[in-house]
Amino acid sequence: MNAAEPAMPPAAPVDIPYGFARAHGVVIAPGEDGVWLATLREGSDPAVLIEVRRHLAAPLRIATAPPADFDRLLSDHYAVDASAAAMAGSLEGGDIDLIAGGLPSAEDLLDSADDAPAIRLINAIIAEAVRQGVSDIHVEPYESGLVVRMRTDGVLREHLRMPPHVAPVVVSRIKVMARLDIAERRVPQDGRIALTLAGKAVDVRVSTLPSRAGERVVMRILDKDTAGIDFDVLGLTGEADRILREALAEPNGIILVTGPTGSGKTTTLYAALKQLNDGQRNILTVEDPVEYAVDGVGQTQVNPKVGLDFAAGLRAILRQDPDVVMVGEIRDRETADIAVQASLTGHLVLSTVHTNDAVGAITRLKDLKVEPFLLASTLRAVLAQRLVRKLCDHCREPVQADNGIAAVLGLDIGTVIWRPKGCEACGHSGFKGRIGVFEAIRVDETIRRFIYAGGDETMIAKHAFLKAPTLASAARAMVAKGLTTPEEAIRIARREDVDA
Ligand SMILES: [Zn+2]
Repeated sequence: MNAAEPAMPPAAPVDIPYGFARAHGVVIAPGEDGVWLATLREGSDPAVLIEVRRHLAAPLRIATAPPADFDRLLSDHYAVDASAAAMAGSLEGGDIDLIAGGLPSAEDLLDSADDAPAIRLINAIIAEAVRQGVSDIHVEPYESGLVVRMRTDGVLREHLRMPPHVAPVVVSRIKVMARLDIAERRVPQDGRIALTLAGKAVDVRVSTLPSRAGERVVMRILDKDTAGIDFDVLGLTGEADRILREALAEPNGIILVTGPTGSGKTTTLYAALKQLNDGQRNILTVEDPVEYAVDGVGQTQVNPKVGLDFAAGLRAILRQDPDVVMVGEIRDRETADIAVQASLTGHLVLSTVHTNDAVGAITRLKDLKVEPFLLASTLRAVLAQRLVRKLCDHCREPVQADNGIAAVLGLDIGTVIWRPKGCEACGHSGFKGRIGVFEAIRVDETIRRFIYAGGDETMIAKHAFLKAPTLASAARAMVAKGLTTPEEAIRIARREDVDA
């Protein structure tokens, strides 16, 4: 069923799902001598035993039973399995392929007894995604089949492909779990699933979108542990780290983080909030959406349906006697104005702006009609960031930089760089996790004067990066340290040119 075998951790053999057992007429149980016994319903296709044997990866003894006996065995065997406990237990090592094989077809949708395989499939997919550090799960219906793709470290890969008829079952179950309206298939919807996996709270943000061949679903895994992330884990070190810490120590002002979507801006802001969250400050946020719950921080989610946008939310939280406010993004003049006013009245304001580099943020705020003298007196620091894939330190291999790479990255020919290989530890991808690349501008006296005088980006950048690294030079330094590959570093340099 699956072209590319998913990398599954070794797991103890698990029982086959009820739907599969019923559809294929086979029940398995451990025999007293440690050998598994497979009971086949008379008349069933014995070819299914190949699949069962593959699933168990253990020797198998085979028996047959007349249909009536088989049905009794089937219901006895799965009587316990229908309980919630059995369902939860099956999360840990379920073979997704095999569970997918047990899915009912669309006609069985109303047959509630058959929901179990779909729930189990979705749970197993989410469990595996969490285990592998996946950020997004895409469930995409096409005429040819239902495709499940997962994004790990920024790269999307196909994970599972199922026959087209299971799409409505899987999508409906996800919608039920996320408390969405399953009868409504013509408009996009969004919701949440809250799960506990192996004692760990996992929030899944679900969004649906009608498409030609049915509803697409994207599930974003919000791992709450990430909210406790520290600067050093982010890769925020050296000058950029010093600049941010200095700015955070000020009683008021605006601190901005810039970068394209998916560059980790929010994670950096949460890390900053964590620094400030010492119990002596009132910290309030307006976010779209609230990605992680942070203890001790008052978080509000924008809700356009009731007119609660960033500007309205920011205005509201400023009436709540805050010390520090975080607004998810400054993307209109009104929000920019309120942020400036908040800073002038003694608040520390953290936010993001969608620009490519740190200097671009200054231009962006001027484009939003923030007066240069106000900007000069309120802006404290701007960070720009990207994420690069981190080389697996178990299997990375040293090589000497050839002419091309050396020229592009400004390294000496023959400099030792590292390339990915792939091992058990990294799921044979050669990479494990991602790390932030940063540049930072500290608005000092000189830069303040430049902004006040309407100085252009080149002048500001020239002064700002006299000592501090730029995104490109920070990425080069990471290549030299063996943290990432030249290709990843070059990708950053290129995105700076093309990304809006
Ligand atoms: Zn590895």
